[in-house]
Amino acid sequence: MNTRDATLAQARELTHFIGGKHVRGADAKSGGRFGEVFNPTTGALSGRVPLASKAETGQAIANAEAAFPEWAATSPLTRARVMFRFRELVEKHTEELALLISSEHGKVLSDAKGSVQRGLEVVEFACGIPHLLKGEYSDSVSAGIDVYSMRQPLGVCAGITPFNFPAMVPMWMFPVAIACGNTFVLKPSEKDPSASIFLAELLHEAGLPDGVFNVVQGDKVAVDRILAHPDIAAVSFVGSTPIARYIYETGTRNGKRVQALGGAKNHMVVLPDADIEMAADAAVSAGYGSAGERCMAIATIVAVGSVGDPLVAAISKRLPKVKVGPGSDPEAEMGPLVTRQHRDKVASYLEGAPAQGATVVADGREHPLYRESDGFFLGASLIDNVTPAMDCYRDEIFGPVLTVARVETYEEALRLVNDNPYGNGTAIFTRDGGAARQYQFDVNVGMVGINVPIPVPVSYYSFGGWKSSLFGDLHMYGPEGIQFYTRAKVVTARWPDPGTSKVDLGFPRTR
Ligand code: NAD
Repeated sequence: MNTRDATLAQARELTHFIGGKHVRGADAKSGGRFGEVFNPTTGALSGRVPLASKAETGQAIANAEAAFPEWAATSPLTRARVMFRFRELVEKHTEELALLISSEHGKVLSDAKGSVQRGLEVVEFACGIPHLLKGEYSDSVSAGIDVYSMRQPLGVCAGITPFNFPAMVPMWMFPVAIACGNTFVLKPSEKDPSASIFLAELLHEAGLPDGVFNVVQGDKVAVDRILAHPDIAAVSFVGSTPIARYIYETGTRNGKRVQALGGAKNHMVVLPDADIEMAADAAVSAGYGSAGERCMAIATIVAVGSVGDPLVAAISKRLPKVKVGPGSDPEAEMGPLVTRQHRDKVASYLEGAPAQGATVVADGREHPLYRESDGFFLGASLIDNVTPAMDCYRDEIFGPVLTVARVETYEEALRLVNDNPYGNGTAIFTRDGGAARQYQFDVNVGMVGINVPIPVPVSYYSFGGWKSSLFGDLHMYGPEGIQFYTRAKVVTARWPDPGTSKVDLGFPRTR
């Protein structure tokens, strides 16, 4: 056995979770495929994840389909009780879940715990499902006729999720879907697949009937089976824009309801009257938290007028203090990136920026961990004087690289943000209430922060961007999540006195 084979043999074999049980992937001899999972802190191979075949994906969907009628007929309060128990279990196991997330994603523990907490808030929202599913009732809309509406579950719903929030993003989807009475098949990112299995185990322990929640590990093969399968009613997707567009187009062509959240390039506009120190703190927190691997990370600071020089100086002063280190180190504020390829791609923007006319103010490749560690580290980086023509402005870098665009006026800043193809999140920093209020009306972005750099809505509002950041009509979780995972039915009822019955060929009118 050579060294590579020996390492592979030691890597933990991960599983699917289907019908209430762990299910191993088909072995290589019978055509099974596996992906490699790494620990980003050490660079070591840590796991082998099965990549489901069409048939294995079909098995998960069949289990979900079989579980649907009984689960849909279970009372909302009983479904809510499962969610209450699940909530307690996730809270109890937050530390373990955060460690698992950090070991495959790389983010620091405090950040991983924060993401679990934000996922839990959606579970807490879903605990209110009896109230959220209430319909409307109008009595006596016509002589002896009452009308009422109800919302019913769709059937088997699927979730396809990205690497950057291996617990939180699935928790944006399945608690609401399941509480509404659907069954669910989750296809997590193959880069950090363990958190989903952990959540499946906790749902099982919470008393969720077998088959209501299934995890199928995999790649495009599994996704394409989900998109084509006649028993899948709806697909929720979060990931990059090209794949989101593909999921939306393919899923809707196959008659499915689809919400597909894509990539982002979030701008933080800083007006000349802003508090520079507060804006710099916010820029560093929102630019480098989770090593920039957040769809709501600030990617570009839009410095208006005189604010540019002092703001860049204030941000630069803070960068050497950002402690980069292993996710498991309680002192570390920023961990490694998810894979070596991704880290190298992010670093390539620092290489290319000067030739396109930008100024690299801080270069993360100078960090000792970039040079000396086997982990996928890159230090906090800052590029000034970027313009819309440059790659570092146009592309979603998704790493610890903050860019600064300088403009003269509010109108120029607004035009820059609105001309960008993405519209996920944005923030404005100012002490002028009128300017902030104007910005919230003017900007073509789905989630807006006023002196709040990462405006992720709380769980009882809904999350979603505009333009190339979301394909579909409904945002995720909150009230729009309930709408997405249910369909409305309106009943018009009469309990007549047979004596008043007669034939009437006219169109029904109110009497
Ligand atoms: P990705 O698009 O590469 O992968 C997302 C999912 O799609 C994964 O489960 C993956 O297995 C699957 N997939 C990948 N290629 C596929 C293909 N060709 N056909 C079918 N399925 C495919 O995204 P990622 O790199 O895992 O995550 C990062 C991206 O997610 C960033 O663009 C980020 O902005 C975005 N994101 C967006 C939001 C949001 O709310 N808008 C939230 C988190 C992440």
